[in-house]
Parts: sequence; C-alpha cells; structure tokens
Amino acid sequence: MASVKVAVRVRPFNERELSMDCKCIIHMQDNKTSIVNQHQTLSHMTPKEFVYDASYWSFDHTDSHYVSQLDVYQDLGKMTLDSAFDGYNACVCAYGQTGSGKSFSMMGLADSDQLQGLIPRISKNLFCTINSGQCQQTTYRCEVSYLEIYNEKVRDLLRSKDKGLSENLKVREHPKTGVYVQDLSQHTVVNYDDVDELLTRGNHNRTVASTQMNEASSRSHAIFTVKFCQAKMVDNFPSETISKINLVDLAGSERADSTGATGIRLKEGGNINKSLLTFINVISTLADMSGEQTKKQYVPYRDSVLTWLLKDSLGGNSKTVILAAISPADVNYAETMSTLRYANRAK
Ligand code: ADP
Repeated sequence: MASVKVAVRVRPFNERELSMDCKCIIHMQDNKTSIVNQHQTLSHMTPKEFVYDASYWSFDHTDSHYVSQLDVYQDLGKMTLDSAFDGYNACVCAYGQTGSGKSFSMMGLADSDQLQGLIPRISKNLFCTINSGQCQQTTYRCEVSYLEIYNEKVRDLLRSKDKGLSENLKVREHPKTGVYVQDLSQHTVVNYDDVDELLTRGNHNRTVASTQMNEASSRSHAIFTVKFCQAKMVDNFPSETISKINLVDLAGSERADSTGATGIRLKEGGNINKSLLTFINVISTLADMSGEQTKKQYVPYRDSVLTWLLKDSLGGNSKTVILAAISPADVNYAETMSTLRYANRAK
C-alpha cells in the first residue's frame, strides 16, 4: 500500500524580510508546527497547530534547532533510497510558495558540498551503495531523465542540441508498462559525475528556456527521475527489479489572484493551481484507502499531467515524501498558512 510521509521545513529570513523588520510567526517543536497571525488582536492570537511526520527548523547556523541539508537527507533522502533498493518506486515532492526553499531542499547550492540538496545526495549515495560491494551477486543499470511541465506541456530538459527548446512531448500510457513520455531522452549513468553533469545541463536548459520564452521557471514543475535496475540470479533464474525515484520541484504555490495576473499568466496560474490541487487530491485519496480499496476507488491521476506522469510513483506499492517549504515571516502569513493546510491534507 502507498505510504506518504509529510515534512515541513522553514527557511531563514531573507534580506527583504529582514529589511522590513518582519516578525517570526512559526514555532516548531518535535513534529508540531504552529503559526500565529500577527495581525489579529492580542486576544485572538491563538496559534494554529499542525502535526506532521517531521518539522525542520533552519533559522541560522547557531540555533540549536537548526536542521542541515545532511539532516534532511538522513531523515527523508536515505529512506527514499532504501525503499528504491527494496524495489519500491519512490517520490519526493517539494511544495511551497516561490522563494520558500523548495529548490534549496531539492537541489541545494551546487558550489558547496555541505549545502547540496536531496537530488545530489540521493544520487551520490545510490552509487556509494552500488560500489560498496554489499550485493556482490547483483549488477546494476541506472538511467536518468529530467523534464519540466509548463502549462500542462512536457519538455525534455536534457534534449539533444538539435531539438528546439520549445518542443512539447506527448504523454502516453502503455497497457503493460504504464505511463511514459514519448521521445523523452534517457541517459545511462555509471557514477555521480555523470549525474552531476546532467543536472547542471538540465538546470541550465531550464533557465535558458524560461528566459527565451519569457516564462518564470517558478511556474513549472521539474521532475528529475532516477531509474535503476537490479539484476541477479534467484534460484538459478535471472531476476530483475526496476525501481524509480522521482524528485520533484513543484511550481510555486502562490495563487494567481495574489499576483494580479491576467491573460496568459492567469491561464498558467490556473493550470498550476489545477495540477497542485489534483496532486493533493490524488495523495489524500490514496492516503485514505486501505489495501483492498486501492483497486476499486477512483484516483484522478489523469486530471493533470503532473499526477498522470507520477502515477506509478504515487499509487500502488510506492513511497511518497512531501516536503512543504515555508517562510518564517509574518508578511507571508497567508501563503504559509495555505501551505501548512495543503500539507495537512496529505496525511
Ligand atoms: P524556491 O525554490 O521555493 O523558489 P529557493 O530554494 O530558491 O526557493 O530559496 C530561496 C532563497 O532562500 C535561496 O536564496 C535559498 O538559498 C535560501 N534558502 C532556502 N531555504 C534555505 C535554508 N533551509 N537554509 C538556508 N537558506 C535557504
């Protein structure tokens, strides 16, 4: 049965919040996160409390509650990688408003080992395990792909140079092998350096595409997928286990209406909202189902490209982690509250 773990992570104040002398409205203790609305009168300032599987504080490096990139990997990333080695499909999705720390948690800062996020750490440790010789009888084959979904259209972030940046790929469903993106490039990787090179190329393409097409990359979902096959002999018969890890940086969750969008931006906003809403509907439907129901209950995977593509990593025998990223500052109260409520629905 599908399992979902929900964690929330607060980032430090940014320059803008500091210059505005913002107040901290988030408090975390153990797995509880509470938020206060500073704009209410004192008598109404009762904090609203949420309980998740984990709460990560990252106020500053001197704070004793500080949770590092390594800590987040040890808690969420390692579990995801272990599940994949056990044969499960797994998925880590970062949700939150733009600037809340999604890509810091997923990708991190490339020029610092200490500040690397979940994607590089999971990829590095994948090869550490493979090369550790723990399973001498097993041979491995790994490949990665990297795509973005913008306005319900799929683009290959690792496409070959002769293909235009704007080419949209089709999503299809095979009766036996499931959902796939037609013509999405797959790249065999044999060590972490291979992954690192592809990540750099994909991130660069994402920036170039958004600049060329006058789009904001915060309005697209990015999915980095590591697929690996473990082959060994079991009772003298060859056996193959294929696992997939989807690492997803979701589009900024801010509502279209809060940014004064019109025309095409409003349509993009509508598509983002729809896919984020479908995503949480899928997760909460799956979370409510027991094993037997899984086959019968309708799960609206096809209502958005995002959930359709993630179908085999969300439902069935898969492990999902949702990391909700938030700002600590009072100016972001409405968006943070909406992120906390959203994450609460995933449980
Ligand atoms: P998003 O991907 O949600 O738009 P980013 O990950 O780009 O947001 O984060 C916005 C800024 O905050 C970046 O400069 C990033 O380095 C910083 N940041 C985010 N989370 C943390 C954290 N936990 N610790 C330190 N800096 C962070």
